[in-house]
This record gives sequence, structure tokens and C-alpha cells, in this order.
Amino acid sequence: MSMESFFNPKSVAVVGASRQKGKTGYEILAALVRGGFAGQIFPINPKAPEVEGLPCYPDLKSTPVKPELVVIVVPAPMVPGVMEECVELGVKSVVIITAGFKEAGEEGRKLEQTVVEIARRGGIRVVGPNCLGVMVPINKLNASFGGDLPGPGGIGYISQSGALLAAILDLARANEMGFSMLISIGNKADLNELDFIDAMAEHEGTKVIAGYLENITDGDQFVLHAERISRQKPILLMKSGGTGAGAKAASSHTGSLTGDEVAYEVVFERAGVIRCDSIRTQFDYAQAFAMQPLPKGPRVAVITNAGGPGIMAADAIEKAGLTFAKLTDASQERLAKCLPPSANIHNPVDVLGDALADRYQQALEIVLADEGVDTAIVLLTPQAMSDDKGTAQAVVDAARVHPDKCVLGCFLGAAKVAAGVKILRTGGIPQYDSPEAAVETIQVMCHYAAWKNRPKRVVKLFPVNRRKAERIIDRHLRRGLREIGEMDSKEILEAYGFVTPRGSVATTAQQAVNIADQLGYPVVLKIWSPDIIHKSDVGGVRVGLTSARDVTDAFDLMMYRIPRKMPNADILGVLVQEMCTRGKEVILGMSRDPHFGPLLMFGMGGIMVEVLKDVAFHLAPITAQEAKEMLVKTKTYQILKGVRSQEGVDVDAIAEGLQRLSQLVTEFPQIQEMDVNPFMVGPEGVTPVAVDARISVEGM
Ligand code: ADP
Ligand code: MG
Repeated sequence: MSMESFFNPKSVAVVGASRQKGKTGYEILAALVRGGFAGQIFPINPKAPEVEGLPCYPDLKSTPVKPELVVIVVPAPMVPGVMEECVELGVKSVVIITAGFKEAGEEGRKLEQTVVEIARRGGIRVVGPNCLGVMVPINKLNASFGGDLPGPGGIGYISQSGALLAAILDLARANEMGFSMLISIGNKADLNELDFIDAMAEHEGTKVIAGYLENITDGDQFVLHAERISRQKPILLMKSGGTGAGAKAASSHTGSLTGDEVAYEVVFERAGVIRCDSIRTQFDYAQAFAMQPLPKGPRVAVITNAGGPGIMAADAIEKAGLTFAKLTDASQERLAKCLPPSANIHNPVDVLGDALADRYQQALEIVLADEGVDTAIVLLTPQAMSDDKGTAQAVVDAARVHPDKCVLGCFLGAAKVAAGVKILRTGGIPQYDSPEAAVETIQVMCHYAAWKNRPKRVVKLFPVNRRKAERIIDRHLRRGLREIGEMDSKEILEAYGFVTPRGSVATTAQQAVNIADQLGYPVVLKIWSPDIIHKSDVGGVRVGLTSARDVTDAFDLMMYRIPRKMPNADILGVLVQEMCTRGKEVILGMSRDPHFGPLLMFGMGGIMVEVLKDVAFHLAPITAQEAKEMLVKTKTYQILKGVRSQEGVDVDAIAEGLQRLSQLVTEFPQIQEMDVNPFMVGPEGVTPVAVDARISVEGM
């Protein structure tokens, strides 16, 4: 569906237009008129002859032509009636500003439902209700009560909070931020964030898609669309407050470590969405993406008129993992020729405190022409001689000569640089109020560029015994069992190519000894009961048993103690298992998010996982590259690689384990949570072993 009618309508009707200043019905109409909208405007109000100098119509059907866009401001109970009129007239695009719907309780929720039903019946698309409206600066369309239109520009903004949008608009007007459009999506009764993200992806004037969201309506679709769109345009989102949907009673370690927050983090990473944690950072990033090319690499040069800020910038560049550019000899010679002898001709280039615009311009042109520089930050402190306006213009001009290089301004101060900052921004140079903010923005741009240029995602498919896993899962579901215990879980894992320790169940001490003799010592004894999930918590795991004697004692002790601790547990016997002696314990796990699907987890294993929380997540299905990235994100990785003289483990084997797990949980949506803990990994060439596992399932 085309959203043109929302962005560029030929005519707009305001139902509920009012003559009373301060009322929303007045403010919207006045905003439309004041904004200079070139199309026709029809105020609808049966009681008024005219509003703001425009003739008023008693109802929609009395307008001389059918309005292309209808903005509804009447009280909530009257909205369904107006919607019916729209159906009759064949209006297709409606913005409902009115509040008092879903957000106001049960009554409102029903009313909203009614509105949606009418809209569906009439093929009408609706923005809102309970929203601030729509603004499209380039078309001088201000169908909102968010105040005056900001200037036109490359940022498209979507906000789930009208109030926040009002704050953003205020900040934007004060900072010369330009927008292609601003949409307040309100209750999202019909059109939601994804509809507008899609529309902005197609919209030529929109260079950057930014927004503030409280929740995401359709998780699966969001991931798919956002991932595709991020390849063309950056998406920058602020996401606040979890809805608690992710807060479920978790029985696995993985489940207890995931939640809404983790889900959004991995989804954004996967889809290339840039997360912003404040309006400030969102602005910082958005202006650079909207006005500057992506840096071609990590090399940053700094031009400054004072030493201190130059060093601050250099520190920030290093901390951010970027490269402090080294200027070529030729560039340095050229700089030496045009700068005073005491100037610094190395990066950071110091043009000195008495620098005027010309020195800045020459220095910046030389720096930008250097093939070893991807991005330049121009710092200015307002010293006695400084010319903020002239320098700003010089920066704008020099940057135009090198449109392929990224240039960021950082004029420090306030009143003394205000005029220069304005020239920078209107001239297409983003401005930052600290070197750190500029550097952080470059870092974000480089990260996005890397995401964009990453190789095509290829998910490896392993040959597995899917049927076998299916049989075990189905059997549990048929019996109404949600938890799959260690033995069956490990069978499922084996079907997916994991190696598990050999062993079997004994019901008597003698049997246990016989099994141990066959396996060879040392062995491990584990309590075997469908009712005991965390075996060591009840003394149900004994490792390092080296003789028949040890086995008998351990068996007897477990059989004596555990039934006293857990009188209701059904104890079926004891698992006698081969002991894995070489390796480190890690955890591989999955917890299924209700909106976004399976979240894979990797971390330091064993019993400390929930204490240390050194874990990384990724949305399944996962590629080999992504599996590796998960590992590298943890501190555990450093230990696994080998510290000092310690031997490292086979990191690729862990990555393969994650990919196999990813395939399992992708092929079986019934699996809600699972832990492979520990997954015992040895040095290169030694196959890792899934020592313990548990899976919980749910019928589809
Ligand atoms: P649970 O997690 O239910 O307490 P596990 O089977 O994970 O039980 O055992 C607890 C710990 O005992 C493991 O983290 C591991 O350190 C050790 N362990 C268990 N089985 C083995 C084995 N076969 N080889 C080596 N160590 C084991
Ligand atoms: Mg365990």
C-alpha cells in the first residue's frame, strides 16, 4: 500500500476543527495553515461558519472534493461515527489524534476495536489513535499538534510517544535538525512502526530512519524487514521499558538469563539496527548518517586550534578501537608549508590558537586529500581571535571538495560558537559538543558499515537424525511432560551430532559397579529421576570415582540421602557415566522469546553461570561467523584461548556446537528452553562432550 496520502495529500480535512485557541482541534488546523500547506484544507465543524479564515463544513460529505487525508480530533465516542462517514465517502487515509482508546482501559479498548473493524471494512489505513499526528516538512504538511514544522532534511522519525516526539521537535528546531517526516504512531491500532519503516525505506528523501519505540508489534516480520532495510538505510532506534512479556518463569539457566532486554539487543544486532540510549545520542548519530558518507575505514584525523581537546579526541579514538590516522610525508610537507612553524603537522594537526578560517581550510583540505584518512574531526575552541563563522564556512567548503570523506565538526562552547555551529549544520556538517561524542558517532558509523559489508549470511545445515529427535519430543508431549531429562535430552543431542559420555542406568549398587567396570574408571554417578532437574543441588552428582568401592559407597549414600531430601521425587536409579577428564566447562543454551524466537546463549559453564553472567546471545539460526562472534564477546573466550602456559581449547568445535544447537531449536519450535551444561571442550582435535543437558518443550 502506498502511504503517499499520508505524506503528500492534495487535500486535508480536520474533523473537529475548533475556533477555540488551546484546543487540539484549533491547534491542528492552525498548524496546517501556518505550515503553509499548499493543498486544500477543510475544517469540519457543524457549529462554526469558519475557522482560521477558512470556510467550515458541517460534515465530510459536504466538502467540495473528497479529502485525501482526514484528521480526526473529535471526542473518542464520536470517532466511530466519523469513520463510518469516511467509509461512505471512500476516504482511505485517516489520522486519529483523539485519545481515550486502548490506553484508557477496557471501554477504550473496545472502542478502538470498533474503529479498527470499520477501517478494515472500508479499506482505510489509520495512524493512531492517541497520537500527535504527521509532519512532512518538505511538503509543508503539518497535520499535528507538535508545534511548528522543523526544517526539511534526511531523517525520518517514528515515535510511539507523542510527548517524546514533542521534546525531539523542540530540540530539533533549536539545533537545525532537518526531517523528511515525523510520524506519531500512538496506539498503533492499524499502522505500526514496521509500516512506516517500510514506507521510509522506499521514500527517497529519507536517508536515515530513526524512532522511539516502547514495543514492537510483529517480532518476526520486524527482524526480516529491518535486516533487509538496514542494508540500504541505517535504522536508529531508542527502545524503552520492557513489557514484561519476556519475564517468564524459567527453569533453565539460559531462560533465567534472557528476557526482553536481551531479546532486543540480539534482534537489533542481527537486523543491523543501531540502538540509541538517549535523545542526545540518537541526534548525534542521526545527523552524521543523514549528512555525511559512511567512513571507508577506521582512520580518523583531527584538526584543532588547541592541544587539550586534540588529546581528548586522540584518547577517545584509541578507546573506541578506531585508528589514529598517520598522515603521509607528502601531507606533512604540504602542512608545513602553509602552517606557522610552531604548528603541529602530525595528527592531531594543531593550527594554533590564533588560527583564522584560512588556516583551517588549508589544513582540512590537505588532511582530506590524504589517502590514509577516512574521517576528519574539526575541533574549534573559542579563543580571542577565533572566527567561528568563517571557520565553519571554511569547513563546509573544504568538505565539499571531498564528498567521499566523512567530516564532523566539534566546536566547543556555547554562545561564542552558536553562529558557527548553525553554519556547519545548515552546510551539511554534523556538530558535536564533545570530542568523545564525535568519536562515538564515528565508531557507530564504522560498526554499521562493517555490518552492511559483512558477507552474505549462510547458515550451515548439518546432516542430522531429525526423526529420532522428533520421536522423543512427541513422546514427552503426548504424555503431557514438559521437561525432558538428561538421558533423553542427550539422545536428542546425539541425533544432532553431539557426542555424549557413555553410560547407563543402574538400580542396584552391584549393577552400578558392573557398568563402571565396563566403562573403565574413573566414573561419575548421577541420580536418575524425572523430578530432579539440578542434580548437584541435592547431592546427586559424584565425580571421580576410581574403584568399585567408591561406586558402591556413592550409590548407597545417594539412595539414602536423596529420598530424605526429596521425599516426593520418583527415583528410578543412578546413572553411571564415563568421566571426562580433559577439558573446560562451557554452557550452550537456548531460550525462546515469545516475539522474536530462539535466543542462543554461550558462556562459562558449570554451576557459576548465573553468578558470573559472562554470557553472549544471538538469534537463531546462526552462521559460523556469528557463532564465533558470540564466543569472542565473552571474557570466557580469553580463558578458552589459553592463558599463559595453559593449553587452549578447540574454539571452532564450540562454534560448531552452537550451530548444531541452532539447527535443532530452529527445526523444533516445540523446544522452549534448553541448556547443554556443561559442554566439555578439550584442546584442538578432541571432540567436545555434552556432559549434561535438559530441554523443556511445549505443544504447538
Ligand atoms: P546438574 O547440572 O544437574 O547438577 P551435571 O550433570 O551437570 O548435573 O553435573 C554437575 C557437574 O559435575 C558438572 O558441571 C561437571 O563439572 C561434573 N560432571 C558431571 N558429569 C561429568 C562427567 N561425565 N565427566 C566429568 N565431569 C562431570
Ligand atoms: Mg548441568
